[in-house]
This record gives sequence, structure tokens and C-alpha cells, in this order.
Amino acid sequence: MPPIHVLLKPASGNCNMRCDYCFYYDTMSKRKELTYGFMSLDTLEDVIEKVLLYAEKSCTISYQGGEPTLSQIHFFEKSIEFQKKYNVNQVEIHNVLQTNGLHLNQEWAEFFAKQNFLVGVSLDGGPKIHDYYRKSIKGEGTFVKIMQNIELLQKVGVEFNILSVVNGKTAPLIKKSYRFYKKNHLEFLQFIPCLDPMNELGGGREYSLKPVVYGKFLIDLFELWYEDLQQGRQPYIRQFENYIAILLGKMPESCDMRGICGKQYVVEADGAVYPCDFYVIDQYRLGNFKTDKVEQIDQRRTEINFIEDSINKNKLCQSCGYAPLCRGGCRRNRQKEESNKQYFCQSYRMFFDACLPKMMQVAERLSSIQ
Ligand code: SF4
Ligand code: SF4
Repeated sequence: MPPIHVLLKPASGNCNMRCDYCFYYDTMSKRKELTYGFMSLDTLEDVIEKVLLYAEKSCTISYQGGEPTLSQIHFFEKSIEFQKKYNVNQVEIHNVLQTNGLHLNQEWAEFFAKQNFLVGVSLDGGPKIHDYYRKSIKGEGTFVKIMQNIELLQKVGVEFNILSVVNGKTAPLIKKSYRFYKKNHLEFLQFIPCLDPMNELGGGREYSLKPVVYGKFLIDLFELWYEDLQQGRQPYIRQFENYIAILLGKMPESCDMRGICGKQYVVEADGAVYPCDFYVIDQYRLGNFKTDKVEQIDQRRTEINFIEDSINKNKLCQSCGYAPLCRGGCRRNRQKEESNKQYFCQSYRMFFDACLPKMMQVAERLSSIQ
């Protein structure tokens, strides 16, 4: 059996912030129940037991939201306790938590360090850039508090990375953000394109990331990264690392770069399971860990053809020279009304046109060292 990855939503979509572009708020608004409240310890135990009885070799347990730290530390302590109780197959367990960073404090930081959690903190850049869309419930900026908490994670020695949402406002300012990350020793970065609401034509929101803007962003970011690489001190940027891995003949670890959806188990607070964080809506419900085994959930995934439907069959991609590297991008950004054409196709083409030769150089250099 392959390694298993479950993503839990301990606090459902409940959150202590109100970011204008929140994709999960949009997802929640498209299902019967907006929120499933908070995951009970009984449900948590059912999930951990079923997953660990099934797992072989390794198991990643991610906690995401909404904001997972709205569930108290006790919930996560119990998770560790259940992991010890049910790890009969002696699998390697990784705990990963994605947070907006607002609620963290010394106690959280010490807990993460002690339990070897990998923490992702959402930060969109320096003060003005971050605060533009990432607001508190009262509509105030959150940058100052979040940066204080990032410094705390650094001080306590927590392993963490930064997740930045690339949107129409922040993308053109990437040079400024890159300098900011560098100055603050933030060296593990992941940039994800902002999503427009589900089933809506792209580009209609104030925050929307348009393809040309995203293409320019990728080029600018790559040039900055490449310049640093020449001096032997570039940060880790997940997307570029994955492209280089593909060029070296490896499997990208990021599911949106494989050309086919991965097998995931996204668990809402009531124990219900969905195939991807972008599809936590009623029609994609695969079962519930309170009553179903992993095998039954997998069977339902097959019945609704979730993975099969994600195979990229777009004609443009089939005749595209960049397809072995690009693979058509994430299925969530393919447009049904345009024969599943990738919304960011133009961005990828701009990027590969400008940066592929340098990327190949990097891959060649690495393959001669390995
Ligand atoms: S829809 Fe995108 S993010 Fe979700 S599993 Fe598929 S490729 Fe991954
Ligand atoms: S660049 Fe466009 S056409 Fe080519 S593989 Fe990527 S999404 Fe498809």
C-alpha cells in the first residue's frame, strides 16, 4: 500500500480571520451545511484508528481549516496519544499543520517543537501587501501579530514554511515580497495561485489572478530565485523544486503537477471524507470515518471517477511541447466550458518560454552532482 495522506479539519471552516479571497468560505457556501462545528475526540479517534490500521510505511496527518488552532492544544495532544495507541504497523507518522498564525503563542510553539510538527504559516508578503486581503474579523490588518508569531516559531526552533496566496494585487509586487522574505530569513516558500469561486468564470473578482499577471509573476520569481542560486543561497520554492524534479525524471510531490489527482482523504469535522480540499462539497462526499473503512471510501472514489476524470485530455495539452513538464496543471483550474482548458495555460507558456532553458541548466548541474 502507498503512503497515506489525511487532511483533517478540526474546526471545519471556522476561522478567526476574514481573508477576502478565502476559497474555503466559497466551498462552504456551496454545500447544505456551512460549517460542521468542531471535531470531537471520538471522531478524531475513529479517524486515526482507521487510517493507521490501513497505513503502511508512512502516514501524513495534516490539520487545516478554516483555522485548526481554534481547536485547543488538547485536541492535538489527543491526536498524538491516538497515534501512539493505534500505530500497530509501526509506520512513520508526519504531523503537518497549516495556520494563519494569528492565534499562536509560546505554548503552541513549544508543542509544535516537542512533537516535531511541520507548520505552514500563511503570509502574503510585507505589511501592506499582506494586510490588503488578510484581515481579522474586525477588518483590521493581521501582519504585525503574525510576524511576531513567526519570530516566536524561529526562536523556539519550530520547523515551518510560508504559504503565500498569489493574487491580482500581490503578484506584481513579488520583487518587493521576495526581498522581504529574504531579509527575514524566510527560506521555505510555497506560492499558490488564488482561486476564483467555484463554477465562476475566472478573472471577475477584485482579487482575481489573471493569466498574464500570473505568467509575469512566475518569470519574475524564477529570475530572483535563479540569481540567488548562482550565488549558492536560493530559498526553497516548492513549484520550482518540483519542475526540476520532473526534469530529473522524478515524480513531483505536489499533486497539481502530476497531471492526475492524487489519492487524498480530506476529513471534515463530522468525520465525512472528500477527495480533495477543493472539493469538500456534498456531491463529492466519499463516506465517513465514523462508519466506513478506508477501502469503502476508496471504492466510492472509484465509483464517482474522481481520479479518472482528472486525467488531462485537453487537445491543446496533447499537442503542447511543454506537456511532459506542465501536465496541464490542477484540475480545479480547468474550465469545463472550454473543453477543460487550463485557465493558467497562458501563464505556464509564458513561464516556460522565458525560463525553461535556465531550469534545464539547473537540472543538468544537479544531475552531474548526484
Ligand atoms: S484538484 Fe488539484 S489539488 Fe485537488 S487533488 Fe486534483 S490536482 Fe490535487
Ligand atoms: S502549457 Fe498549456 S497546453 Fe501546454 S501542457 Fe500546460 S496547460 Fe497544457
